[in-house]
Amino acid sequence: MNKNDSEQMTTLMLQDDQYIESESLADADILIFNSCAVREMAENRMYARMKDLVGRRKKAKKDLTLVLAGCIPQYEKESLLKAHPYIDVIIGANSIEYLPALLGHNTQTPRIKITENKDPAIIKANPKRTPFDQAFIPIMFGCDNFCSYCIVPYTRGREVSRTKESILEEINALEGSGYKKLLLLGQNVNSYGHNLYEDYSFADLLVDIHRIPFIEKIDFMTSHPKDMSDKLISTLADLPKMGKEIHCPLQAGDNEILRDMNRHYTVEDFTLLVEKIRKAIPNALISTDLIVGFPGESEAQFQNTIKVVKTLGFHRVIAAAYSPRKGTAAVDLPDQIEDTVKKRRLSDLQKIVQQYAFGKHPVEERKLL
Ligand code: SF4
Repeated sequence: MNKNDSEQMTTLMLQDDQYIESESLADADILIFNSCAVREMAENRMYARMKDLVGRRKKAKKDLTLVLAGCIPQYEKESLLKAHPYIDVIIGANSIEYLPALLGHNTQTPRIKITENKDPAIIKANPKRTPFDQAFIPIMFGCDNFCSYCIVPYTRGREVSRTKESILEEINALEGSGYKKLLLLGQNVNSYGHNLYEDYSFADLLVDIHRIPFIEKIDFMTSHPKDMSDKLISTLADLPKMGKEIHCPLQAGDNEILRDMNRHYTVEDFTLLVEKIRKAIPNALISTDLIVGFPGESEAQFQNTIKVVKTLGFHRVIAAAYSPRKGTAAVDLPDQIEDTVKKRRLSDLQKIVQQYAFGKHPVEERKLL
């Protein structure tokens, strides 16, 4: 999603020939950091990098306009002005269309624009795309799920879907550009359209996209297991252009932790879902996300996560240690786990993933595990 926002910002900046893309970091007069708020460590690394760059410019006596864009401004808001006075322009992920105006407004005071929700109408149908073999197509923004560990509903705002017409227009505009593969983007693509249409879902959108003759492959990211309907599974099975990797974020292999995460499914529900997908699409590659060290996670509960990795045999696992994010419900839960314990659990999980994931165990073998 952030990569797509970067493409949209690049397009906005270059559209009136007012700016050109710099060949190198050292030559740039404006630097735009498009930030992610999901993990604290990445956020801290970004501030260190920004300070370092500003310091070097000062030393070289060269001007620099520093822009902080993306998800961090969405939740830190005005407090950034005080905490990071070296930033010239602050623009939230939901307000990127204001970027040229903020930069063009010549004033010594920091400029800031943050809006709570994204207006899907601002999406450019023909952005300057990153050279990559897939075109990133956002189909929805925001999330209404409020998983207790997750900052996204506070940064990306409430769930809004783009109209099917605007999505299909953007995809049709790719004809002749060389892009034949798509990555459909959204925080929870499975619930696409539910607050926009009465009778048009993500599955219907896939069918419409699938009809576009020059499109060869369609992938999507990411989905919530609770919204993976039978209709969607059978649609995925019926459409030969769909990518075979299906990302189903489990997050934890223990029911109490899943309840505290506010995920609205149990390990048993998830296992059933995986079985359904594998039955409908025998060559499906199921990947997942897992978080270790969620507040209150006991050793036994962590071992339940390990057990699920061993038994479900994911194709790919993206594992992370729980990162507390200000404003989320999980920050206030008792029994926060020590960093050393989180690190050890993450390393233990990664070892198991190396052993059991990446297609190492075919389906028949997995049943025996
Ligand atoms: S569904 Fe995904 S984006 Fe939404 S709150 Fe949960 S983890 Fe965050």
